[in-house]
Amino acid sequence: MATFLFDKIIFGPVKSRRLGVSLGINLLPTDVKVCSFDCIYCECGFTPKEYEEKVTLPTRAEVREKLEAKLQEMVAENELPDVITFAGNGEPTLHREFAGIIDDTIELRDKLTPKARIAVLSNATMIHRKPVFDALLKIKDNIQKLDSAFEETVKLLDCPKGNFDLKRTIEQLIAFNGKVIIQTMFVRGSFKGQEIDNTTEKEIAAWLELLKKINPLQVMIYTIARDTPIETLEKVSLQELNSIAGRVRNAGFEVQVSG
Ligand code: SF4
Repeated sequence: MATFLFDKIIFGPVKSRRLGVSLGINLLPTDVKVCSFDCIYCECGFTPKEYEEKVTLPTRAEVREKLEAKLQEMVAENELPDVITFAGNGEPTLHREFAGIIDDTIELRDKLTPKARIAVLSNATMIHRKPVFDALLKIKDNIQKLDSAFEETVKLLDCPKGNFDLKRTIEQLIAFNGKVIIQTMFVRGSFKGQEIDNTTEKEIAAWLELLKKINPLQVMIYTIARDTPIETLEKVSLQELNSIAGRVRNAGFEVQVSG
């Protein structure tokens, strides 16, 4: 199916269904997806072999220069972003200079668009690295993926590359001490002959227990909205998402639903 890549380092602003008017920063290449996951629902398509080969990422200086120019342009046009969002063609925290880039972004935001939040959409695979963890604590919207409380489901849905340890990821999410937003994609379908469904009672009950341990600022739940790399996935209905959201609220957490 028709998935897509962002062709710029700075993209948008776009109206994000979850975040508002969002100016995007893509720290990955503009011609290939680079990610430590290979989610079967990824809008960028499957993670290609190039991930294991050498790819060129934009430098910290390049990102700073382009972000400053775009923010200046937006200020001149009086079109300020609600949020500056690290997203794009893969996992932003894989960038070796991620922590420095966050510092530059905070500095430019404070100077040019002080009301804008900074968001990072991450899959949580790099939060065991201290510079990444510390950088994420400096921003307002530290949005981390947790698609299931079960490692076997994460492996089916998110197809981690290399070593993946859900227990370690959860320990790190807890270590944010509540300064984290959890994002969860709900989806069902089949892939390579295996049935996948992270909306079953067993899944939801275990996921809610984990939320209680992580104690996030907010929970974002959503389902597929655009084309995915495979055609055997189903959207979860808005009614079902709202029912899951009700249980999250009952557990004491703010929740945002995007159907
Ligand atoms: S973590 Fe995000 S970018 Fe990476 S494969 Fe999953 S959906 Fe795509």
